[in-house]
Amino acid sequence: MESVKEIALENGSDPQNYSIDASLILKELETILHEDYSQTLMISAVLGQLVEASGKDRLPPPAFFAYLEILSMISDAPKRTKSEPPDNIDETTTRVIELATTLVSVICKWNESGVVGISKDCPSELTEVAKSVHRKTTLLQTGMWICVSCGRIVDVKTTRALMCTECDEDLNSDRERTTSSRRERERTGYGMSSRGETIE
Ligand SMILES: [Zn+2]
Repeated sequence: MESVKEIALENGSDPQNYSIDASLILKELETILHEDYSQTLMISAVLGQLVEASGKDRLPPPAFFAYLEILSMISDAPKRTKSEPPDNIDETTTRVIELATTLVSVICKWNESGVVGISKDCPSELTEVAKSVHRKTTLLQTGMWICVSCGRIVDVKTTRALMCTECDEDLNSDRERTTSSRRERERTGYGMSSRGETIE
């Protein structure tokens, strides 16, 4: 809001006439996330990495929590038939980060220690999002994390890729199974082609 007011003053307008509309931000986020299934997956992966990152690249956890809430609110995005990645994925991701960060700054009440409640400016359709952001941020401040896969509350130090150890292990063993079954298929394919050569 401070930046908005500064820009208004610079342009000779009355800063009191400008505000940030959280409902419009929500609409814009919903539109982007509903655009394309693979794009939404990629954005989610980048945001997940950024919230785990350290230093200036780190995505503030409250913004990530708001993103997760909005993601769970939208119906599945249409799956595209083309396999190439969507255009401007970096720009779209940056836009989602800006929107989510601005959104939490408007719908939550803040002090120096972080999120302390729900802002009086929070529109009714975002109250549940603000409540969830507040709850998850407070938990994180006490060193707890809600697993993004199963929803259990675990010690943040034990998490891997934002998941509890069990979910992370499950995912890894699934991945191993997929890889080994793929190898299996490749071997069959190779055997068949060499049989073909013998017939020739
Ligand atoms: Zn889990």
